[in-house]
Amino acid sequence: KARDEGGGQEVVFDPEMQRRARDRLRIEADLHQALRRDELLVLYQPIVDLNSGDLAGFEALVRWHHPTRGMVSPMDFIPIAEETGLIVPIGTWVLQQSCRQARAWLDAGANPEIFVSVNVSSRQLDGPSLPDIVRAALETNRLEPQRLKLEITESAVMRDFEVTLGLLNRLRASGAGLSLDDFGTGYSSLSLLKRLPIDTLKVDRSFVSSMGVDSAGVRMVEAILQLARLFRLKVVAEGIERNEEAELLRALSCEYGQGWLFGKPLTPDACMERLLAKTDKAVAN
Ligand code: C2E
Ligand code: MG
Ligand code: MG
Ligand code: MG
Repeated sequence: KARDEGGGQEVVFDPEMQRRARDRLRIEADLHQALRRDELLVLYQPIVDLNSGDLAGFEALVRWHHPTRGMVSPMDFIPIAEETGLIVPIGTWVLQQSCRQARAWLDAGANPEIFVSVNVSSRQLDGPSLPDIVRAALETNRLEPQRLKLEITESAVMRDFEVTLGLLNRLRASGAGLSLDDFGTGYSSLSLLKRLPIDTLKVDRSFVSSMGVDSAGVRMVEAILQLARLFRLKVVAEGIERNEEAELLRALSCEYGQGWLFGKPLTPDACMERLLAKTDKAVAN
C-alpha cells in the first residue's frame, strides 16, 4: 500500500508488502540454484481425442520441488523465471526432458503417434537459437519432429510479430507442431493470426468453464471452433473438468480435450501405465 498524501511525499509500506518483496527475492535466489540442484521435474497431462476417447499425447508441465517450501506452482515461479531470464535454461531443460521422456514411452511400446507438447516462453523466442535447440533435442533422442509440439501464447507472438513470425516459420520447417496457447485471452488480431504457421489452437480454460454459465458461453466456443476451421487448425479445449463440458465440445466437433476429467498432470511412470493400458486394449480388440 503506497500513499501519497497531498503535497507531502509520504509513502507507507505495510509489513505484508515487505514480506512479499523479501519472499520474492528469496524465491529468485533459490530458483538460480534449482536446475543445478535437480529440484525441477516435469509432469505430463493427458490430451485425449474427444471423439474416440484415445490418449493422443501429453502437455509437459514443469514443477519445482523446493527444499523447504515443498511443491511450488509454475504460476508462482514462471513469471520470476521470465523476468530474470532463467526461463531460457529452464525451458531448454524441459524441452530436452520431454523429448527424452517421449523416446522412453515409444521404446516401451506406446502408440507411435503420441506427441508431447512443450510450453515455450516469449523469452525463448528472443534470440535465434530455439530452432537449433529443438533440432538438437529431437536428434539426441531420435524423435520424429511430429512427436513434438511447441505451445506459444498469443501475447508472446503479438509482442514483436514480424521477428517472431520468422522464428516460428523456422520452427515449423523443422516439422514440429505449433500450438497457440491460451487462445482468446490475449489480443488476437485475426489478420495476424492468419499469417501464423500454427496447426493447433488451445482454447483457454475460461471459455470452457463459461459454457456452463449461459448459452452465450457455448456460442463463443462455437465461434472459436469455426474460426479454427476457417484457418484449418486443430483445437484442444483446455481445463475440461465436467462430463457435460466434454459432451458439448464433442457435439461441436472439437478434436482434442485436456483437463482434470481426463487426468491431472502425471508422473512419467503413471503416463507409461496409461499408454500401455491403451496399447493392450488395442491388441486385445
Ligand atoms: P498452460 O500452458 O495453459 O497449462 C495449463 C494449466 O492448466 C496447467 O497448470 C494445468 O495443470 C492446468 N489445468 C489443466 N487441466 C485443468 C482443469 O481441468 N482445471 C484446472 N483448474 N486447471 C487445469 P500449471 O501446471 O499450474 O501451469 C500453469 C502455467 O504455467 C501453464 O499454463 C504455462 O503457462 C506455465 N508453464 C507450465 N510449465 C511450463 C514450462 O515448462 N515452460 C513455460 N514457459 N511455462 C510453463
Ligand atoms: Mg500450455
Ligand atoms: Mg494453455
Ligand atoms: Mg490456459
